[in-house]
Amino acid sequence: MFIQSFGSSSAGNSYLITDNNDINESIVIDLGINIIKNIEYLSTLLKVKYVFISHEHSDHTKYLKTFLKFNIKTKVIINKECFNELARYDSFYERIKHRFIFLNYGEYKEIDFLTVWAFKCNHNSAANNGYVINFINKNKKILFFTDCGSLDLKQFKNINFKNINAYLIESNHQEKNPSNIKEDIQQSKWGHFSFKQSAEFIDWVKMKIKNNYQEIKPLFVLLHTSYTYEKQLKELDKNLNVDFVRLERIVPTLIKLN
Ligand SMILES: [Zn+2]
Repeated sequence: MFIQSFGSSSAGNSYLITDNNDINESIVIDLGINIIKNIEYLSTLLKVKYVFISHEHSDHTKYLKTFLKFNIKTKVIINKECFNELARYDSFYERIKHRFIFLNYGEYKEIDFLTVWAFKCNHNSAANNGYVINFINKNKKILFFTDCGSLDLKQFKNINFKNINAYLIESNHQEKNPSNIKEDIQQSKWGHFSFKQSAEFIDWVKMKIKNNYQEIKPLFVLLHTSYTYEKQLKELDKNLNVDFVRLERIVPTLIKLN
């Protein structure tokens, strides 16, 4: 399996998770980029059965409508509050409501070849779902969250971290004293995950899997890098003592999932 990031920043976010040997079990997370422009992926994108939406902000949903018109079989997994927000501004979504599967915080569902659990990410949106997605037939599990000012770890009390293969988590900026309103929001508990928060989350996961770390060797994928802090973050990344990849902000990045 692999993860194709088409971009991971406030300029637009979208990720395809697929398997060359079996494109029938492909998913897309967020659609803030017009990914159907990628000719080499057209046949795979036509097979995508499920799109996951984190939250309604346009850098995550701008091209959702385009995609749903392109692939008329795709269903969307989304928090109900985010759906309401999308439908409020575009009646298209209300008309195709039957193609949406609502998953609110703490809810778990078996959907076709997946099991999915949603958790709450604090952000200045109507809602923001993080997801633990299990590809049943591949025995692969990922944990995903983006645009998260703060995260209540108590939510994860029933999650077994020993069988999670990859963590796609936000690592947006370097913490410092905010010098303007934009930074104030970015660093608030309703803003974005800082490098420090992502590093602490990684340490917390390592603690959870303790002695099994070497054997599991989960991959950490760092998302949604802020343009302003890109240089500083790449410097800070050198302190991370794990297998990780920081996605490029605009340029596509391909990551193999062992
Ligand atoms: Zn956002």
